[in-house]
This record gives sequence, structure tokens and C-alpha cells, in this order.
Amino acid sequence: MEETRVKRRIVLVPVPAQGHVTPMMQLGKALQSIGFSITVVQTQYNRVTSSKDFSDFRFLTIPGSLTDSDLKNLGALQFLLKLNQTCGESFKHCLGQLLKEQDNNDDIACVIYDEYMYFSQAATKEFQLSSIVFSTTSATAFVCRSVLAKVNAEVFLIDIKDPELQDKVFPGLHPLRYKDLPTSAFGPLESLLKLYSEVVNTRTASAVIVNSVSCLESSSLTWLQRELQVPVYPIGPLHIAASAPSSLLEEDRSCIEWLNKLKPSSVVYISLGSLALMETKDMLEMAWGLSNSNQPFLWVIRPGSIPASEWTESLPEEFTKLVSEKGYIVKWAPQMEVLKHPAVGGFWSHCGWNSTLESIGEGIPMICRPFTGDQKVNARYLESVWRIGFQLEGELEKGTVERAVKRLFVDEEGAEMRKRAIGLKEKLEASVRSGGSSFRSLDDFVNSLKMKNS
Ligand code: UDP
Repeated sequence: MEETRVKRRIVLVPVPAQGHVTPMMQLGKALQSIGFSITVVQTQYNRVTSSKDFSDFRFLTIPGSLTDSDLKNLGALQFLLKLNQTCGESFKHCLGQLLKEQDNNDDIACVIYDEYMYFSQAATKEFQLSSIVFSTTSATAFVCRSVLAKVNAEVFLIDIKDPELQDKVFPGLHPLRYKDLPTSAFGPLESLLKLYSEVVNTRTASAVIVNSVSCLESSSLTWLQRELQVPVYPIGPLHIAASAPSSLLEEDRSCIEWLNKLKPSSVVYISLGSLALMETKDMLEMAWGLSNSNQPFLWVIRPGSIPASEWTESLPEEFTKLVSEKGYIVKWAPQMEVLKHPAVGGFWSHCGWNSTLESIGEGIPMICRPFTGDQKVNARYLESVWRIGFQLEGELEKGTVERAVKRLFVDEEGAEMRKRAIGLKEKLEASVRSGGSSFRSLDDFVNSLKMKNS
């Protein structure tokens, strides 16, 4: 029997933010390695540029109608809502052009869009192409969004602020408590519920790809499979399956030389990802605590991450003195390389999903200091489900910072966490190898495209 021909081109639509772009480009690499050509449709904001790593990808830009003042003043939530209100037509035009160009050897197999770029759905449907959602967060955060999109908003808006409920488990989301729910620091709760509702209730995709793996989130993945009523493909962690350097900021590689001089598993790596912010007073308490812990530390201080400061100029001289002895500061690090480095023994993280997967992927235990959104969900799982980290809650104070670092680097408890993290690292690696669960899931996804196109 003649084998069904698979359509060869896949169109990707990433959210223009580091934590979303990175896994989408990794997905592109994974699909390219099994024979698909990749077209990335981006908005004009925060674009990935074509580099040698993506020389075979085609990049197309669709215009958006956000002004400079929108970009400056809209929080992340309003930005996403506005992007979805304004990009539908330009995406339709772009997809229409692509379809006109296509020949029989290179026609479009599907459009894979980040779940937050849901404007992509209408045109994809109109052109009768198959549309696939890609979730760059954990499966558990996806479950939360699905649940929160359907709550009674009036009741929820009151309950979520009730101090007595904070430590109680949210019904149906065990072990997540009210305080762990993915609410956002980037805009009002009403906007967040609106966004979740638009993402979830307008979804028409025929399948969902998740950058996760069954050995980490089996029950959340089962929940999704049951509730979504379309196939769910957990194919992660993509950074192990298909590394694809897609940093939107310039990486400072001098920190690798600095790490080269240090003892194995001795360094605390500190990074809060691409969006989280930190107050000056917290920076100072951290510097004191880190300095008193006597553990060397590599600290990423992203320009713009300290409110009302370009970079570190608003910090007092005392800060510079404290970090100069045992610390090293960069504006942006080659994070995956840092986590792989033998000198790194612990990760102080905001617990973004990519950082979480990258840390587990290297067997590095974590001090969890979530800032907003799904980071709180990930932190809860790191602490209470996988038990490879612990949360540092409440006001930052030098004594608690010092204690946290010692807990991870000196105490028996930290050594246990490290052992468990190494155990999980091995499981993650096995999952993306031939025959592993994520490897098979990717295979199933590709086979499903063959069936659709036959
Ligand atoms: N990252 C990096 N260098 C840094 C800090 C972060 O390359 O100095 C990368 C990190 O490896 C991860 C991404 O930025 O892939 C951050 O994504 P994450 O989901 O952890 O957090 P977000 O930025 O979305 O809050």
C-alpha cells in the first residue's frame, strides 16, 4: 500500500516574550529534525531574528497596531488582550499569502499557536487548516487556567483576597492552595479572568501540545486528556529534546570563566527570568544574606528589573561591597550552560516553567521565590510534589536568606533534595530518548498529522 504523504510545512505562532519564544523555537527544531519545514509568524514586538541556528526557518512578521505608549504602559495582560484584538486580520492576510505560494511539495500541515495567540484560530479555521495549541507552561498551570476560566468571577474575586483562605487547598486543584493559584502581578484580576476565559472558552484547536512530561505531571495530564476532549501530547522537556538558542537579550559569557574557578556544586545561581521585578530593599537583604552564607553566587540582574532604575545604579554602595567578594553579577546569562556547569549547586529562581524544567534537567535543587502567575504553581510542585526545592515566603530578610542558602548547601535536607533532583533528571532524559514517553508522544502527534492529511 502506498504510504500517506505528510504535508511538510508547519506554521508556528509564538507569544513575543522570552519564556514563550524559547520553547516554541525548540518545538520548531524538534519538528524540523523529523523532516518538517518551519515558518515562524511573529508580531513586530520582541522578534526572534534569523540566525545560524534557525537558518532553515522562514520568519514572517505581521504588523500590529500597538503604539509605543501602549507598549510602555500596558501591562502584560492588557498587551496580550490587545494583541489578540488587533492581529487577526494581518495574520489572515499572511496565511492567505502563504497558501497562495505553496506548491504540492510544501503545503501546510498545521498551524501551531501559543495558546495566548488565539487570534490565530479564526483564519486557520477559515482556510480549513488544522490548528494546534501549544502550551509553554506546566500541565498543572493549564489545568488551573481551565478551572479558573469557569469560576464564578464575583465569588472568586472575593475569596482570592480572603486571608483565611490563603493556606486552604482550592477545590479540585490539590495540592494547590488559594495562594498558589496563577493570579498575576501584571494587571487586575478581572483582566486575567477575561484572558483565561478567552483562551479557554474560544478554543477550537484539534489537539494540544504541552511542554511537559508524564513523569512530572501525570495526574494533570490525565485531567487535561479527559476534559479537553482532543488529544493532548506531552512532548517535553523540549530543551533536552531539541536545544535551540533563542535568547532575546545578549548573553554575558564571562560568567562561565568565573564559574570555571569555583568548586563543584558550590555556587548559588540566581535568576528571576525575563519579566519579574525586585525592590531595592529586597536586593539589599539578599546581598547581605548571600554574603553571610559564605556561598559564592552568580546573580542575573536584568536591566529594568529594579523599578525606577535602568540597571543597578539605584542600589547603595553597600550592595556593591557585599557582592564584590563572593558574587558575580551579569545582566543576562547563558542559563542552560550555567545550570550545566559543575560549579553550580543550587538555583534561586522565580520558578518560570522553562527555568524549572532546565533546573530539573540538570538535577539542580531550587530555592523558590515565585513572583507571579504560574510560577506559584511550579513552586508549590517543586516543594511539595517533587520535593526538590522549598519556598522562601514572606518578607525577604537577611537572616532568612542566609538560612535558605545553608538549608540547600549545608543541611542534610538539601543533600536529599539534590539526590531527588538527580533522580528526576535521569527520568527526564529517558523520556525524550527513543521509546520514552515524550518521544512516543511526539511520534503520535506526527502520525496524527498523517491521518488528518490522508
Ligand atoms: N534565561 C536566560 N538567561 C538569563 C535568565 C533567563 O537565558 O539570564 C532564559 C532561561 O533559560 C529560560 C527563559 O530565559 O529559558 C526564562 O523563561 P522562564 O519560563 O523561566 O521565565 P519567564 O521569563 O517566562 O518569567
